[in-house]
Amino acid sequence: MEITFDNTYAKLPERFYSRVEPQPVADPKTVVVNEELARQLGFDASWLRSEAGAEFIVGNRLLDGSEPIALVYAGHQFGNWVPRLGDGRAVLVGEVVDEEGQRFDVQLKGSGRTPYSRQGDGRAPLGPVLREYLVAESMAALGIPTTRALAAATTGEKVLRERSLPGAVLVRVAKSHIRVGTFEYFASQGDAEALEVLVDYTLGRHYPQVEEGSSMDLLREVARRQATLVAKWQLLGFIHGVMNTDNMLVSGETVDYGPCAYMNEYDPQTVYSSIDRFGRYAYGNQPVIAQWNLAQFAQALMVGVDKEEREDFLEQAQAVIDEFPERFRIAFRQGMARKLGFEEYRDRDWPLMEDLLELMAENESDFTLTFRGLTEIVDGEQEVPAIFELPDAFDEWIERWRERLSEDSATEEERRRAMAVENPAFIPRNHLVAAALDDAVEEGDYERFHTLLEVLTEPFEYREEFEAFARPPKPEERVPATFCGT
Ligand code: AMP
Ligand code: MG
Repeated sequence: MEITFDNTYAKLPERFYSRVEPQPVADPKTVVVNEELARQLGFDASWLRSEAGAEFIVGNRLLDGSEPIALVYAGHQFGNWVPRLGDGRAVLVGEVVDEEGQRFDVQLKGSGRTPYSRQGDGRAPLGPVLREYLVAESMAALGIPTTRALAAATTGEKVLRERSLPGAVLVRVAKSHIRVGTFEYFASQGDAEALEVLVDYTLGRHYPQVEEGSSMDLLREVARRQATLVAKWQLLGFIHGVMNTDNMLVSGETVDYGPCAYMNEYDPQTVYSSIDRFGRYAYGNQPVIAQWNLAQFAQALMVGVDKEEREDFLEQAQAVIDEFPERFRIAFRQGMARKLGFEEYRDRDWPLMEDLLELMAENESDFTLTFRGLTEIVDGEQEVPAIFELPDAFDEWIERWRERLSEDSATEEERRRAMAVENPAFIPRNHLVAAALDDAVEEGDYERFHTLLEVLTEPFEYREEFEAFARPPKPEERVPATFCGT
């Protein structure tokens, strides 16, 4: 098995990372492989399933051309400054360029201790590895920018948490792992030179359309991508759960699926993370937190700006931060218009949208099923599967919605098709994810995991035989919290 690595981050100054070796494990076994992504990146899926492939996944065997490094970064965790974090349980083994010229990091997560591990063991339990796999791949299928999962293997070793759990490693693929926290790290060291290198590198890698760009260009572009990213989360009911600045990638991809979850019934206060006691990262707070993170980003960038230009920078940066809520609002409302089958968003559509959200909150309506329910009835009065039936409380609103639709020229069929790709039937509901993980971790039984993965990778295609996967949890099935699982 040969892969052509083309490592660029490892050529940056030595203080950007530490050279590390993954720590070998006893008995690696591949448990899941992403065939499509493997093909895209030039990996042989059947090799990844083989013994040799398992050795690669866990880091026992490095491929030629691999230059394993752990990246350094800092960050604000739950608002508190942490001067040094870094890849404490992950190793970047190399970068690959796909057929379309897109560059990706290939990272092993859970591959052992690094200089950034602090008290941690550098390992990952199987449950969180499988959770990240499911949610990341579901996000990708839903069209949300995200890191991907290439493969996972168990290590044959136990990791000790509240109890002893099977260990595993995830092969994570990302456009890069450069975080807001990476900039914060160098800023906190007063290392203007490193910031300059990092700004140039990041612009070149993620924003090549910006020629001879500056820190201000980078801030502006990152803010744009964050606004669209968080709008997409909101439009699908996704709650990240740990929006710390070290978990915000400047590429605009979603990263670090720890205590994340999708909302069932619509309630902006929804929090899943067991460690988020004050609801800092609740669903409804995500746009505000993204803005807060961008302010930290701007402050970090400023350290790299020449003294005499700082005042200008500050003024422009403030403008970028100030306009973020409006940027988000536009992205959210335009997305909402698409969800409701409108050809475009008009300002006077907002009251209709607001009323729908209010109605959903009052009726504790399932977020996903409500929009899919509207999709099912948009092309007439036909029968819909029972789970998509909307309660009578929506009748009056539906009348108003239909009036609005009649102002557009699209046919019912076109509308139906447009809405069906905005409003999924299947999302990774927490109770389903928990059940799949439970079978795998407790029984070594992956059937539920694989079925769920299959369902989630075609989220817009409702299939009757998978009805149970579209349903919200019954009261006794609810899983109200997720754990970081570090
Ligand atoms: P996360 O909560 O996954 O975003 O991680 C926050 C920080 O803790 C990062 O620097 C991680 O590398 C580090 N970390 C998390 N879990 C472990 C672990 N088991 N061993 C070492 N470091 C860890
Ligand atoms: Mg993290």
